[in-house]
Amino acid sequence: MIMDCAVIGGGPAGLNAALVLGRSRRKTVLFDDNKPRNAVTSESHGFITRDGIDPQELKSIAQEELGKYPDVKIEKQHVLAVEKKEGLFEVRAADGKVFLAKKLILATGFKEVLPDLERVGEFYGKSLFSCPFCDGWEMRDRPLAVISENENALHLVKVASNWTDDLIFCTNGKASLSADEKNMLENNGIQVYAEKIARLVGNLGVLEKIEFESGAAIRREGGFITPEWVQASDISAALGCKRNALGGIETDGMKRTNVEGVFACGDILMAGASQLIMAAADGSMAAIGVNAALIEEKFKI
Ligand SMILES: Cc1cc2nc3c(=O)[nH]c(=O)nc-3n(C[C@H](O)[C@H](O)[C@H](O)COP(=O)(O)OP(=O)(O)OC[C@H]3O[C@@H](n4cnc5c(N)ncnc54)[C@H](O)[C@@H]3O)c2cc1C
Repeated sequence: MIMDCAVIGGGPAGLNAALVLGRSRRKTVLFDDNKPRNAVTSESHGFITRDGIDPQELKSIAQEELGKYPDVKIEKQHVLAVEKKEGLFEVRAADGKVFLAKKLILATGFKEVLPDLERVGEFYGKSLFSCPFCDGWEMRDRPLAVISENENALHLVKVASNWTDDLIFCTNGKASLSADEKNMLENNGIQVYAEKIARLVGNLGVLEKIEFESGAAIRREGGFITPEWVQASDISAALGCKRNALGGIETDGMKRTNVEGVFACGDILMAGASQLIMAAADGSMAAIGVNAALIEEKFKI
């Protein structure tokens, strides 16, 4: 059977795309190998009606809801490759099955490369986070650090200061702040630590202190870091989808990529704030885009 749409990636973006497609009576197959970047955390915040939910629970509620729509099929497996052949997308799954679809939605998200700091992986998602809007509330009023060598670090420090008055900025010996910027932070009560970090110290994911190479240490209960973002899948590259300066997939307002019939939504776009609710909204828009394209094709003659 030829599907109307294959959705690759079943995080909030792909799940919401499949929901809108199912409700539009489009024959849809949704693939997900369940390796989202938020797997490190057990609570997601800021999604109305679901504030604080375990992201895996969010996923299973969404999958259950999709069960109501007979045109949606969920394949809990990895997609190895997609090829465009004679106007159709041939999707090859890990178990050897091949699916044909008229349209394709890419919602594969991105992966994070954590900074090279000893034990950082133990703390990420538990007391160190990347997005203050997602996790700042839980860390409010505590002694926190922004640890970043990234060019956007200064912006993150200013944003993070909204949640605590006890904030430091650790540049790990790399970021270059001008004297004016350093003064501006210090005038706002934010000390800058330019020394290289030797290690992060704590227990069961809860940060206790940051030790510097000199042997000095400062007590901190958590904070924010800036992981590097890379595409989780190379399917978009193999299809020839254009990327933006950040490495995200370029789309128009209907989530169409430059490749005819290929749509993209969610974190994969790297188009600004990365949040569950935004990914879900993006998925909805991509499904509307797919519908619009299929409707145009139907009424062409
Ligand atoms: C530590 C941490 C905490 C966060 N906290 C919050 C929060 O509190 N609130 C909030 O709103 N946001 C939070 N986020 C951000 C949020 O998780 C993302 O914005 C959101 O998950 C993006 O959704 P997505 O559907 O685009 O991608 P993802 O959720 O990453 O889903 C992509 C899916 O595609 C699958 N996939 C990839 N390639 C393939 C393939 N080839 N075949 C099959 N499947 C594939 C992946 O396994 C994954 O399941 C947090 C992120 C992190 C890292």
